[in-house]
Amino acid sequence: MHLMNTVTNADLHCHSNVSDGTLSPEEVAERASRNGVELWALTDHDEVGGQHRAHAAAAALGMAYLPGVEISVSFANKTVHIVGLGFDPDDPAIMQGLADTRGGRERRARDMAADLARVGIPGAFEGALKYVGNPDLISRTHFARYLVEIGVCGDPHEVFKRYLTEGKPGFVEHRWANLSDAVKWIVGAGGVAVVAHPGRYDFTPNEEYALFSEFKAHGGQGVEVVTGSHTVAEYAKYADLACEFDLLASRGSDFHDPSESHTDLGTLPNLPGKVTPVWEALAPRVLHP
Ligand code: AMP
Ligand code: MN
Ligand code: MN
Ligand code: MN
Repeated sequence: MHLMNTVTNADLHCHSNVSDGTLSPEEVAERASRNGVELWALTDHDEVGGQHRAHAAAAALGMAYLPGVEISVSFANKTVHIVGLGFDPDDPAIMQGLADTRGGRERRARDMAADLARVGIPGAFEGALKYVGNPDLISRTHFARYLVEIGVCGDPHEVFKRYLTEGKPGFVEHRWANLSDAVKWIVGAGGVAVVAHPGRYDFTPNEEYALFSEFKAHGGQGVEVVTGSHTVAEYAKYADLACEFDLLASRGSDFHDPSESHTDLGTLPNLPGKVTPVWEALAPRVLHP
């Protein structure tokens, strides 16, 4: 297999039930392989607990693997996600940093539930917990699934629109990791840091410029160009940005669940020819079966 070109079917962003996906790491591996993924990374939110299982499952299926994670960061009063790829998942500093980042999630979830109770939706903490695979990682996605279950909304997307986003009942401000720390944990553990789905943040051009300038200054090296969260116009916009900022380009579905996710594993367009795929720089870190 040639990993050194853009036509590699790499899917370097997706979730298992170790965070807010619904499939186990083994089931995600199986689905990725069936869909033709040649190089895979499982990137659970703020958690590397699924990494050894994911790598073992990939190896058994003959699929190349890169350790992955998606770290929640607070930047300019918004939440930004930083994907880490090709790092040592047993590195003590990243493990501690992620544990600290996860630490506030239960408190936040209880506050979200109290907020929802005030608008007539009681029991949401317990309800969301039924969907949680990892007690350390209760997320808004689990609340969304519960609110769909009890018929408050028709689908998770509607829940986010009406309840779980800024200004809506059920949204609770939260302080995540610092950008500098997240990048430092990833780079310190031998990996490459990548700005996840930049098209999703609704930043002003100045804020976006500040994000990428600071990210680079801290040692960040990549940006997601082709992701399930981007429009076709955004593939082009962020390919341009990758060139301007001299960043490596990544590709990933952000798959969470077969029925919820509109982009399945490994089913994205290839990266535009003008960018350098992040997996070229990561070739020495790829775990071959
Ligand atoms: P949290 O880390 O608890 O704030 O939850 C963030 C997760 O919520 C993201 O990783 C997505 O999986 C999910 N999410 C965010 N916005 C939406 C949306 N509009 N529709 C569906 N899922 C969303
Ligand atoms: Mn998620
Ligand atoms: Mn994300
Ligand atoms: Mn994600």
